[in-house]
Amino acid sequence: MNEKLLDGKRLAAEIRGEVGERVAGLAARGIVPRLDVILVGDDPASRVYVGAKARACEKLGMASGTHRLEAGAGQAAVERLVDDLNADPGVDGILVQLPLPDGYDTHAVLDRIDPAKDVDGFHPLNVGLLQQGRPALVACTPAGIMELLRREKIPVEGRRAVIVGRSDIVGKPLAMLLLHAHATVTLCHSRTRDLAAVTGQADILVAAAGKLALIGPEHVKPGAVVIDVGIHRITERETVERLFPGDEARMARFEAKGSVLAGDVDFVRVAPLASRITPVPGGVGPLTIAMLMANTVRAASLRRGIEA
Ligand code: NDP
Repeated sequence: MNEKLLDGKRLAAEIRGEVGERVAGLAARGIVPRLDVILVGDDPASRVYVGAKARACEKLGMASGTHRLEAGAGQAAVERLVDDLNADPGVDGILVQLPLPDGYDTHAVLDRIDPAKDVDGFHPLNVGLLQQGRPALVACTPAGIMELLRREKIPVEGRRAVIVGRSDIVGKPLAMLLLHAHATVTLCHSRTRDLAAVTGQADILVAAAGKLALIGPEHVKPGAVVIDVGIHRITERETVERLFPGDEARMARFEAKGSVLAGDVDFVRVAPLASRITPVPGGVGPLTIAMLMANTVRAASLRRGIEA
């Protein structure tokens, strides 16, 4: 079983090691890459993510800033802050933690970020460059999935890749990256008819629907590589028992913390069919944050005309 597991934690550590070397190289030129994160409101999950990003920066010798605004701060205040960070020559990366509270125009905020500092890769210019196959700053989760495929030497060219989910942050940019890597790509969504018939053709199946255990064995071709992007916090004991029967380690974690994480894939039932599979937690999640660090160093280099 273990040889099937795609260990995102280990790969993320490998990537962070390489990023750390690049940070040291920049430090020798007197450059300290800096990531600034804007958090509007007090969503608990967002607070955890923002804290994790700042800590990841520190560990790599990078600088970071966290800007907290009240949920009611207003569109103009958020945009002013983006303008200030755009104008600050010491800031290399700007990230607006999503989702913004109700009432904010997310596109208007993201469109305002200087594309050269857009380490999330959500600015229309970066999205357009990706579509044209000349990526500059690419969304972190899709970029992390491509790193995982590359480092694990999973062939992509000529293979059939099916992505469940068409969001701007995961499904669509990943489709572009896989297409440029010469996969035959299909995107599924909530209106897709007979999902299992489509996903059942995948050599590489990516689940990014945000629906707990949506992907069961009926969705998976034997031998497929299965990548689970979904993150769900399970707080009911019976759900843990149903999805992870006999998994004593997971149940012990549940007892200790009152919750455990799981993905969009029914891992216990799908893993026997898959040739390789990512776990949740410890799969795609750690890669996302490692790629954010990589993007910040890349932005710091590109802005100064240094080979990234
Ligand atoms: P969104 O809610 O923005 O998009 C979900 C997509 O899945 C939509 O395109 C939707 O279709 C589709 N979908 C929903 N239900 C079904 C279904 N039953 N069958 C087929 N398609 C369906 O989600 P995100 O892309 O933002 O995130 C997806 C998941 O990934 C979440 O669990 C999120 O927490 C996780 N995530 C994890 C990250 C990581 O680092 N590991 C990073 C980002 C997200 P439609 O367009 O028709 O509505």
